[in-house]
Amino acid sequence: MSSTKSFVSLSSAVNGDAASANVVPGEIHLIVGPMFAGKSTALLRRVKTESTNGRTVAMIKSSKDTRYAKDSVVTHDGVRFPCWALPDLSSFQEKFGFDAYDKLDVIGIDEAQFFDDLYDFCCKAAEKDGKTIVIAGLDGDYLRRSFGSVLDVIPLADTVTKLTARCEMCGKRAFFTLRKVGETQTELIGGAESYMPVCRQHYVNGQAVIGAVLETSHIKKDITVPEVLEETCVS
Ligand SMILES: [Zn+2]
Repeated sequence: MSSTKSFVSLSSAVNGDAASANVVPGEIHLIVGPMFAGKSTALLRRVKTESTNGRTVAMIKSSKDTRYAKDSVVTHDGVRFPCWALPDLSSFQEKFGFDAYDKLDVIGIDEAQFFDDLYDFCCKAAEKDGKTIVIAGLDGDYLRRSFGSVLDVIPLADTVTKLTARCEMCGKRAFFTLRKVGETQTELIGGAESYMPVCRQHYVNGQAVIGAVLETSHIKKDITVPEVLEETCVS
């Protein structure tokens, strides 16, 4: 029967008999969590370990994020690692150099939520080119909506790690990022002056306070509300 025949040819292809299957596939590891959860630190640690083990590594971050340094990944605690600041991932191979890319074992991607071509890049780099990809990014934005393409790569990933921060209001585990200023664009790039990690309770309280402030104020920009949050949220 034809179904048996197609099973046989599929299984031989899966076993690697097909001529195109000559590259050993790589791996994809995803690190997510709110801001200040140590995602970049975990990414750097992983990439440095790979480098110490004799593998060739490269780091990529978005050229949108210029908070700390243009060609370094810098964690909130000041650890720095050289990297490629790019507008998209598809330009990496050409900018890095095709020969250098062939010799590369591990690619770290920081602030992955800013790369729209994350899924296609990871598929190709891991499965066609045999690279190990380690990705760090925000899973959700300040409204807890899926951010960029980060969640899209979960079905591709070998491992997914969700890190947590400490709630700035109560010190419990923080899963979410609260925006402290009344600016509604999704990609407002900032640090501790604009965002804070919060637990579920203080996320809900904080959103309510910010909503009330925005409603009573006709100024929609640059409203900082940490004082209001402190009065309202600290028990
Ligand atoms: Zn809290």
